Amino acid sequence: MDFPDLAMVGRSGDYLMPIPSSETMPLPKGAQLYVLPGRQPLGMDPSTGEIGCLTENPYDGTGPVFAVAAFLPAAHTQTYLAAWEKTRGAAELPLFAYTAVGYDDGFVTTAVRTDPSNRQDPDRFDQERIRLGISQWRRDLRGNRLVEHLVHCAECYGCPAALNLFQEREEGPLPTSPSCNASCIGCISKQPGGRPPSPQERIAFVPSPEEIAEVALRHIHAARNPVVSFGQGCEGEPLMASDTIREAIRLIRRSTSEGTINLNTNASLPRKVAELADAGLDSMRISMNSARQQTYMAYFRPSYPFEALAESAREMKARGRFVSLNLFVFPGVTDAPREAEALKRFVHDTCVDMIQWRNLNLDPDAYLEMLGQTLPAGMGISRLIEEIPVRRGYFNPYLKG
Ligand code: SF4
Repeated sequence: MDFPDLAMVGRSGDYLMPIPSSETMPLPKGAQLYVLPGRQPLGMDPSTGEIGCLTENPYDGTGPVFAVAAFLPAAHTQTYLAAWEKTRGAAELPLFAYTAVGYDDGFVTTAVRTDPSNRQDPDRFDQERIRLGISQWRRDLRGNRLVEHLVHCAECYGCPAALNLFQEREEGPLPTSPSCNASCIGCISKQPGGRPPSPQERIAFVPSPEEIAEVALRHIHAARNPVVSFGQGCEGEPLMASDTIREAIRLIRRSTSEGTINLNTNASLPRKVAELADAGLDSMRISMNSARQQTYMAYFRPSYPFEALAESAREMKARGRFVSLNLFVFPGVTDAPREAEALKRFVHDTCVDMIQWRNLNLDPDAYLEMLGQTLPAGMGISRLIEEIPVRRGYFNPYLKG
């Protein structure tokens, strides 16, 4: 329900602020609206400027009432979080991003479109074409275990990368690694008991270089401007299987120079990154929630040094390859003064080519509690995006065009 007597309020870190319509956009197609259990809505009284909490339905006095958040579709970066008052005993929210929502003659949200590509736009997924694609891939690549794994990803998780593979368009996924050398708080492929579940399970085997090359080559030959990517949400860290990946890249490059071969990674092993670049890797995307060691270590809990990320970027740049950041955006942390400075320094020092401005998928209260830092108000996500002088986007680009 909409309650016009209270104006929209958003959140940046621990700060609540009124959201003017100039900072909103119509809720994009494909966005999901989430009702938040154990959380009551906040709004601002325009006449007093005071922020108040709705504890009952203002129209009839009934209850309970719940706050609402948006889960944005791909290519959109959140600029403010949803605001709420947490009630006693409220459980931790599952691994999604919770973006502010308001009503202005239609649902609005606080986000910017950071990538024009329609790679994962909801209306690009044709279920009949996908069904046909799956049966053709199964027939033509019979016995390829990786194909069966990706069919599960498409049919069970609805993974946009797997769906695109079977539609033979855009970016194809090449998951390879069951293990990882970090243990991220918000890991989307493995979560300990007692925490919100991971949305995917990790691949249980390491495919052979031949199985990987077969999938990659079919996609490269079938898709326009093809990208194939190691490091997916249904695996651990691909560098843990780098010897297999190196052989797969050699097989692919022995057969074609077409397509962009990309690695989504925590960039923990610079020596292995150098080997993969020498074998023909075109681009690397480094996942990070922060360019400040303290904030990074608190989230990734890695078994490798923080310095490895910059070293891996330098190995790629020394070979003229493309490097991007998979930056987990969290309003109030990512744009906090020290965080913003560290990010600008990292981008400058490592000559990163692009930042993919993604949304951190974690309960905001859990994240801030885990960081345990008192951060001054942020400069604003939109302003930060404007101030960093590198290519911006959301997806791994095709680099041969
Ligand atoms: S680096 Fe990736 S696979 Fe490893 S713990 Fe983090 S999110 Fe999970």
